[in-house]
Amino acid sequence: MRFWRRKHEDHHEAAVLVEEAPSPEADLEFSPDETEELREQTGRAVERTRRGWFSRLGGLFERAEFDDALWDEIEEILISADTGLDTAGRVIANVKQVVRGRGLKKSDDVRAALRDELIRMLEAPVHSAPAWARQDAPSPLVIVVVGVNGAGKTTSIAKMAHAFQRDGAMTILGAADTFRAAAIDQLKIWGERVGVRVIAHQPGADPGAVAFDTLSAAEAIGADIVIIDTAGRLHTKSNLMEELKKITRTVQKKVPDGPQEVLLVLDATTGQNGLMQARTFTGAVGVTGIVMAKLDGTAKGGIAFAITNELGLPVRFIGTGEKLDDLAPFDAHAFVDALMS
Ligand code: GDP
Repeated sequence: MRFWRRKHEDHHEAAVLVEEAPSPEADLEFSPDETEELREQTGRAVERTRRGWFSRLGGLFERAEFDDALWDEIEEILISADTGLDTAGRVIANVKQVVRGRGLKKSDDVRAALRDELIRMLEAPVHSAPAWARQDAPSPLVIVVVGVNGAGKTTSIAKMAHAFQRDGAMTILGAADTFRAAAIDQLKIWGERVGVRVIAHQPGADPGAVAFDTLSAAEAIGADIVIIDTAGRLHTKSNLMEELKKITRTVQKKVPDGPQEVLLVLDATTGQNGLMQARTFTGAVGVTGIVMAKLDGTAKGGIAFAITNELGLPVRFIGTGEKLDDLAPFDAHAFVDALMS
């Protein structure tokens, strides 16, 4: 499955290929094989959530005619899967409106209306394809990654780098989480495994300087994608904000419109607590998307709905396991269908 889709001139060809202008729709299109892979991977990642909660939905739609008394049960299932009260309430209100407005009576129709509403909610914050999926992606594309320690930040960075490299995008990593020596070492180890360069300074060094050196190195080697790891401590919000702002300012000295993406890695297993963390980060920096790590390890995958509904942020990737290939682009249709299957 391709994560990076930029069309580029083939430098080995004498003639320059004339490319059609990239279309925004094409940016997010997957081939039939890719769609199948995406659905299979998403299905595995939400297996625990599906078995834990959503499988109960099936029973509610068994009768041919939908029974109005079941709305509360549907709402309860959503809440149990960690969608949060507000989000569950909103889903139910919107589906009820559709069902009543259209006079739907059959269980299958109500089920379809619920499916549509869940997909709509997940897609609401998706206004465009992420920068790396755009055929006219900038180069270098700078991605800053934020999130608390233990959320799965380093692993997610490694998975992304692995996927981008595989797709032909030369990727370089910056170890700007200089607060913990272990974070620098971890990133270096992953860098070696993936086969990407990692720019690092000593523990305690200025994270802005690391970002600057990473971009200089990216320039020198002609890297397509730069991923910058940042400190995950949250002891005071103003510290965090200052540090991240400094990294952003430094990036902009080299890449004026960067960072084009700021990804917040959330641990899906922490459910509603993760949402509170997310609010702190989105308040401090302009987060553009969410990586939901460890989705495979939780029965509370409903948190995805709370993220999109309450934070207004698109989920871009899901972590589906601990290995390098265990990262999938988030696809609302695949996600909802897997939950409701
Ligand atoms: P960081 O402190 O945020 O950088 O967290 P790490 O990347 O070191 O990850 C913390 C732990 O979570 C490690 O044991 C990872 O193997 C594990 N982990 C990360 N992502 C996933 C995932 O998508 N699925 C599962 N099952 N484990 C994950």
